Amino acid sequence: MTILLSTLNARYTHASLGLRYLLANMGALKEQTRIQEFVIGAKTTELVERILAHDPKIVGFGVYIWNVEETAKLVAMLKRVAPHIVVVLGGPEVSHETGEQAIVQLADYVVTGWGDVTFPKLCGEILHGPKPLMKVHAGVQPPMADIALPYSLYSDEDIAHRTLYVEASRGCPFKCEFCLSALDKTAWPFNIDGFLAEMDALYARGARLFKFVDRTFNLNIKTSLKIMQFFLDKLAAHPDDPVYAHFELVPDHLPDALKEGIAKFPPGALQFEIGIQSFNPVVQANISRKQDNQKAADNIRWLCEHSHVHMHVDLIAGLPGETVESFAAGFDQLWALGPHEIQFGILKRLRGTPIIRHTQEFGLVFDPHPPYTILANRDIDFPTMQRLVRFARYWDLVANSGRFNHTIHALLGERPFDSFMAFSDWLYANTDATHRIALDRLAALVGRWLQQRGMGADEAAQLLARDGHGVRQKVTTTAAPQRQARHLAA
Ligand code: SF4
Repeated sequence: MTILLSTLNARYTHASLGLRYLLANMGALKEQTRIQEFVIGAKTTELVERILAHDPKIVGFGVYIWNVEETAKLVAMLKRVAPHIVVVLGGPEVSHETGEQAIVQLADYVVTGWGDVTFPKLCGEILHGPKPLMKVHAGVQPPMADIALPYSLYSDEDIAHRTLYVEASRGCPFKCEFCLSALDKTAWPFNIDGFLAEMDALYARGARLFKFVDRTFNLNIKTSLKIMQFFLDKLAAHPDDPVYAHFELVPDHLPDALKEGIAKFPPGALQFEIGIQSFNPVVQANISRKQDNQKAADNIRWLCEHSHVHMHVDLIAGLPGETVESFAAGFDQLWALGPHEIQFGILKRLRGTPIIRHTQEFGLVFDPHPPYTILANRDIDFPTMQRLVRFARYWDLVANSGRFNHTIHALLGERPFDSFMAFSDWLYANTDATHRIALDRLAALVGRWLQQRGMGADEAAQLLARDGHGVRQKVTTTAAPQRQARHLAA
């Protein structure tokens, strides 16, 4: 075996779509190429051992924000133990600000941007000459029809145990300055019929969980409808063996035809991730995010009230011009619309994103280490940002987990953000921890807090019992992921 494609995934369940694209497009080198995936947190020595067991001449690493530090360690050790192996890097993390990165110094070559064509070409030159002169190779973007689709490379084990990532398009036409997709300037669709034929083949092999990584599923409504119809047909043909699909949407574009299609999906079949990021028009202007807030709110409310879609809606704290007060107002507005989960993110400075143009004016201070989270800005000092980080963590544990679906309303009261911030500060003061809080202990703490706020002990216990605390938790069986199943069960 000559070429090894490798990456460190964030979890075992995340199968790397990027590596499979590379393998599918290796052309004459495909027979000599293999994939070896790892999961972050493993011992570097063991990873090196497993790579060497393949006896590769070239190792290509997919480098992302979540694995860059561990991949750098891995490359450093690999080059010490086996300096003859040629290391090629690719992926979003090394595609920008390339020259200044420690991991790039350790490697032989880097492919920035799209690797589908450029990576196999580079490998051919490394193996057969002429030796590539440049270290950094800008990825060539081929016509979409020239890219071989990778879905047959998902193994039976992937299909049985892992999330299958799929994409009907690449890129995004919008320009939100915190987002890497802002650099795309447009979106490029794959041929929809060819794509759906691949989805059909995956379905026939047993795939039931499809996670679309398209940045904006509802960009081209005709295509969106075709994709939805594909899943509706499967659901109609096999209602006892449900299929489940996840899409990312822009919130202010939901024509009636799309709503009609969405409304036909049964519970547990569809999940949307919708970016609001901020409801503050000043912040939206600062980050070049075009969003009709009224339409967005109306659409989210409609989805919550008239569809069975499981709704995740994103907000980001720390954006330039966003104060704690304006963020709180946006949070409360969003909570009132009724999504199942509010994904509370903290701004990160992704390499290559234009958000840094605000650094001086808004005093943006980012952690220099991945994931480059904002530490403070002009409007939010470091201690307050830390409180927001803990809020986000506890929100995930208590609200998004679906384990306190009844209790959460008492916890949040009339002013959800302020109430949860007070709970979050209290929880931290009483646990000194944001991780490894056992569920029983968390439920007891929630009960104690409710009593401190004036609720009677019996009432608090009854409320928690409705969420299964203090009594045996109800077991739910459905194709939908566990967290969604808990929301559905409420
Ligand atoms: S945040 Fe979403 S809409 Fe904005 S550029 Fe990124 S992918 Fe596109």
